[in-house]
Amino acid sequence: MQKKNPTSADTRTTAAADLADAALFREQAYVNAEWVGQPALDIADPASGEVIGSVPQLDAADARAAVDAAHAAFRPWAGLLPQERGAILRRWFRLIEGAREDLARLMVREQGKPLSEARGEIDYGASFVEFYAEEARRPNIEGITSHLPDAEVELWREPVGVAALITPWNFPCAMITRKAAAALAIGCPVVVHPSSETPFSALALAELAARAGFPAGVFNVVTGSAREIVGEWCADARVRALSFTGSTQIGRLLYAQSAPNIKRLVMELGGHAPFIVLADANLDQAVEEAVKAKYATSGQDCLGANRFYIEAPIYEEFCARFTAASQALSIGPGMEDPAIGPLINAGAVAKQEEHVADALEHGARQLCGGPRPDLGPLYYAPTVLADVPDGAKIMHDETFGPVAALTSFKTEDEVVERANSTEYGLVAYLHTQNPRLIYRMSRSLEFGMVAVNRTKITGAPIPFGGMKQSGIGREGARQGMEAFSEIKYVCRDWR
Ligand code: NAP
Repeated sequence: MQKKNPTSADTRTTAAADLADAALFREQAYVNAEWVGQPALDIADPASGEVIGSVPQLDAADARAAVDAAHAAFRPWAGLLPQERGAILRRWFRLIEGAREDLARLMVREQGKPLSEARGEIDYGASFVEFYAEEARRPNIEGITSHLPDAEVELWREPVGVAALITPWNFPCAMITRKAAAALAIGCPVVVHPSSETPFSALALAELAARAGFPAGVFNVVTGSAREIVGEWCADARVRALSFTGSTQIGRLLYAQSAPNIKRLVMELGGHAPFIVLADANLDQAVEEAVKAKYATSGQDCLGANRFYIEAPIYEEFCARFTAASQALSIGPGMEDPAIGPLINAGAVAKQEEHVADALEHGARQLCGGPRPDLGPLYYAPTVLADVPDGAKIMHDETFGPVAALTSFKTEDEVVERANSTEYGLVAYLHTQNPRLIYRMSRSLEFGMVAVNRTKITGAPIPFGGMKQSGIGREGARQGMEAFSEIKYVCRDWR
């Protein structure tokens, strides 16, 4: 595997120096309650390019060993009372809460996001652990009125077995807890492959899981080549569920690799959110929410608005106000808590440049923004493009950065058709004061989530997920446990 961002050895610092509890910084993987492997893959701080530490490059044999441990732990873990599993999850939640500042700082060092966003992610990530610690106790047996004489029928919800969790770099904590807490609560041990861009947050969660008292083999984190490790898990029939968050491209691959042994799948994939503003919308509110929908996580968010459809009578005014708001955003290293931090790597910057150049070739106008090499190679300023035609790349490819594409529309039918003309279906944003339009358009937009007159909609109690090629299944809520469980039907004769 390539080094993430090769730098000379003399620029190396260690992220542990930033932490009150230095033991949260781990440079080994965590398998069967042991720290294993030797640091080999360098991880760099996107803000400075400095190497902040290294993690092991484990391989298929290590991945198999993690499944051996998880498989051995399955029956005893599933056999605990739900409230016993819940008590361990609750301890984990409290430890995460207690380590909030360290976890946030560690995340800023490896991921680059602004410090207050990192704190928000720790809170969001912890909320899933708290939610599922409680959900573990809810009844999981359903009685049904019998359709057979002299028989009693019942449905039991049972854990499937070992679950493999594969997570991306943009939310290095919450994407793990959202999956792991649901799986662990219902009784499934987990093997986790975190993104090789951001493994330290996962390893800190493993350290806290060890302190919380999860039995050996129940929570494992394996770092290294995703192709080898995840490939091994896909091929291993003992891994009964695979939960992936990442790009649609890799999701397709894992879907195919999971077919031979018919795994339960959860896929939280890419998005290409439309942000629709009707002429009757509260424009102040629409602009404020548009800034959040575009620039959260420095634009590197699956919920990020990619395309802005503004009704013709307010188009020029929205363009002007949104451009002014974009230009007012601060940009800098995440530790200084700006609005926008560095992007994750050079590939992400290249993608912004490609989408902007292509849009301009298609006749778009650039109203502000562009690269910020004065700050460093990974900085890209909030960028607004107006009059972007539907044929431009940015109107159908995920940009995953701080570039906004604006266009105008004239009718409801037109905007719904254009908004739906994508392979993605994760979230759509709608701004209008008209209740009939809110109802009608929420119905006709083909997205798993519709946010009306607001941007923040996520949280542990809601089923998060997309339609079409944005994914399969839901995370969070009661539904988040479904992929990790199966229904068993029992019919008892009582004669
Ligand atoms: P990615 O490239 O698809 O990687 C995601 C995970 O898959 C990482 O752990 C990665 O490991 C692993 N992976 C990469 N190649 C693999 C392969 N050939 N076989 C098996 N595993 C492989 O996605 P990303 O760049 O990390 O994340 C950005 C994407 O995630 C965007 O598309 C975004 O929309 C999506 N996302 C979706 C949601 C949601 O809830 N719907 C949330 C957040 C992000 P390595 O890092 O080691 O390569």
